[in-house]
Amino acid sequence: MKAILVHEFGGPEVLKLEEVPTPRPGAGQILVRIHAAGVNPYETYMRSGTYAIKPPLPYTPGSDGAGVVDAVGEGVDNFKPGDSVYLSIPIGAYAEYALATVAQVHPLPAKVTFSQGAGLWVPYGTAYHALYQCARARAGEAVLIHGASGGVGTAAVQMARALGLKVLATASSDKGLDLVKREGAHHAFNHAKTGYLGEILNATNGQGVDLILEMLANVNLGQDLKLLAQRGRVVIIGSRGDATITPRDIMSRRASILGFTLWGVSEAEQKEIHAGLLAGLENGALRPIVGKEIPLAEAGRAHKEILEPGAFGKIVLVS
Ligand code: NAP
Repeated sequence: MKAILVHEFGGPEVLKLEEVPTPRPGAGQILVRIHAAGVNPYETYMRSGTYAIKPPLPYTPGSDGAGVVDAVGEGVDNFKPGDSVYLSIPIGAYAEYALATVAQVHPLPAKVTFSQGAGLWVPYGTAYHALYQCARARAGEAVLIHGASGGVGTAAVQMARALGLKVLATASSDKGLDLVKREGAHHAFNHAKTGYLGEILNATNGQGVDLILEMLANVNLGQDLKLLAQRGRVVIIGSRGDATITPRDIMSRRASILGFTLWGVSEAEQKEIHAGLLAGLENGALRPIVGKEIPLAEAGRAHKEILEPGAFGKIVLVS
């Protein structure tokens, strides 16, 4: 089979397409023919060697894959060859085939394409954990999704809208702003435009928002605290550096700053996440947005493009 291998940490050029033996499923394992693999920002940090988790070299990146069950190992009775599934694996999805345990394989409803399925675990799992399990969002609250045009943001917009929140969302391109409105944002703001923070406050009649899902905390956290309503909370989802804050902004609002990484989500929470995603996919509340399909061989290009401004849903690798 063909797979992307990383033999040394470095730039996008270290992602090499190679021929490797197709694995065989052992007891309790499932072999999946991957048709689409999601590209997530963290995979670029891991590839460069700057991420908290450094896999032993060589490794195949990728946590999000979708495809068809090819073979099952001994003792697997809830999946069979031919089933459409999506995966939640630590690494290994940038390949034609991947091995997963039963807990890492999830049914993909017939109306969901493989490319959409490749945008489920990391982006939708993160949005679900942030909104429901971390922030305990409630209908009627106002949420600012700060960075709503990408994988996690579009998922969060759809979920927050389905739950009955007032959704304020940001993006920096016209197509991104149109996308977040189409997916359910009541108001959209351009985070590259001077004065947009004032526009957000005006949209809440000066009250502030109850909840902020933050995709770039190193840039925005200090100002986020000034946008919060009383007892508001910020959930830090993404950050690429240090931030400066004014602690009195927290004190005067009795506010909270929360944060997590998906790696730390418990097994019980994961079960709940996948059940929630399946329900949302089946009833149409969740509709993963595939912005770009790129051949697996061009994984390096995908790693460059995922970090450029102008996000539009997911970038996926197809094979
Ligand atoms: P993505 O698809 O690349 O989207 C990035 C988003 O950030 C886009 O909406 C982009 O908007 C927005 N953005 C860019 N500059 C911004 C700014 N100054 N202020 C606010 N937003 C800005 O990435 P993703 O998959 O959605 O992930 C978003 C972040 O969360 C990444 O940093 C990722 O590493 C992190 N993340 C963390 C976890 C976790 O476990 N904590 C899980 C998944 C993702 P424009 O392109 O329109 O400017």
